[in-house]
Amino acid sequence: MKKTPFITLDKAKEIAAQIPTPFHLYDEAGIRQRARDLNKAFSWNKGFKEFFAVKATPNPYILKILQEEGCGCDCATYTELLLAEAVGATGQDVMFSSNVTPELDMAKAVEMGAYINLDDATHVEFLANVAGDKLPETVCLRYNPGGSFSLGNTIMDMPRDAKYGMTEDQMAGAINRLQKLGVKHFGIHAFLASNTTTNEYYPELAGNLFRLAVRLSNATGAHIAFINLSGGVGVDYRPEQPCCDIAVIGEGVRQRYEKILKPAGMDDIAIFTELGRFMLAPFGHLISTVLHQKHIYREYVGLDACAANLMRPAMYGSYHHITVLGKEDAILDHVYDVTGGLCENNDKFAIERSLPQIEIGDIVAIHDTGAHGFSMGYNYNGKLRSAEVLLHSDGSFTQIRRAETPADYFATFDQTPFRFDV
Ligand SMILES: *Cc1c(COP(=O)(O)O)cnc(C)c1O
Repeated sequence: MKKTPFITLDKAKEIAAQIPTPFHLYDEAGIRQRARDLNKAFSWNKGFKEFFAVKATPNPYILKILQEEGCGCDCATYTELLLAEAVGATGQDVMFSSNVTPELDMAKAVEMGAYINLDDATHVEFLANVAGDKLPETVCLRYNPGGSFSLGNTIMDMPRDAKYGMTEDQMAGAINRLQKLGVKHFGIHAFLASNTTTNEYYPELAGNLFRLAVRLSNATGAHIAFINLSGGVGVDYRPEQPCCDIAVIGEGVRQRYEKILKPAGMDDIAIFTELGRFMLAPFGHLISTVLHQKHIYREYVGLDACAANLMRPAMYGSYHHITVLGKEDAILDHVYDVTGGLCENNDKFAIERSLPQIEIGDIVAIHDTGAHGFSMGYNYNGKLRSAEVLLHSDGSFTQIRRAETPADYFATFDQTPFRFDV
């Protein structure tokens, strides 16, 4: 589909007059609509709940919007739990899906009454020791089926090479042990493929987990209370890519539910999701200004944003669409490498990209940066994290995180022996 930015040049200039570029911009109306579409797609399931993957966009203003739309928080660390707590998400509004979990983090999740998703069978004793007499009534277990995970003839990913989850036998053992410790209800979780753009991923995963739930219930007598389909529903980063249809996905999961869980008398099971990318990616732009151009063996456009603000192209070679604001309809008759200013040659937002003619001072919108964008930022080369700005449906905007300053960068040094002239 054609990629249209959710901001005009005039609006970008209006914001930039107050909040200098680069900044991450989020579209509140889009976020709310996405949450509503997801909830509608799964409205056939009584207990359905999305636990937004906080790591994708760890900003309390964003979490608040999603909370208003009925979503909880999926956290993996102590700090993410604190973020959830800050917006008033505690107890069963929180899913704690961690791995290699420190004791402090586990204790916090227990204290908050969060759903705890154990990554390994050895974490049963770990949880029991940390929780003491506060062991939760419900515990979730993360599954790793091993082998490869395919949809039709396409291998989607290799669970056997992934560090997450446990085997089916280990799950049965963990359930037996947890039942002896007094746990009454169980959840099952798996995350088998990332950024999928087919409508078949969730239904196929759900089918696997539903069958597993029936087997585990038969083997242990345990009550399975929910199936957590985790993240992995993707977005169309490229204009020519297919796009997921969440209504079709929800219907596909419903059909598996009817076919597998209903006959087993297990149709009280709630469906949970932990989507990050699908919920937020399309509703974020990284807004950046062209600082320089250079003409050597290729044509280069240098931005005031860099990989420290958006790591995905440098780290994964990911495509992010770029629109030059005000030139939305201009012909793409120039070929540029669009770069940031890190002393790293992989600091390129686009390589040999067809774009309209670009001038210094042009403002660009880098698309689909609402998830795993700001949050993967870092401080290499002394580059500072940008501001985050929320664009409301009426066109007004709020700065929801200020940009870092050099003082923030220096704040973790003992300041006594040195003088930072900030
Ligand atoms: C990263 C992650 C998610 C979210 O993944 P998306 O690809 O953003 O949907 C959900 N659950 C767990 C456990 C994760 O690690």
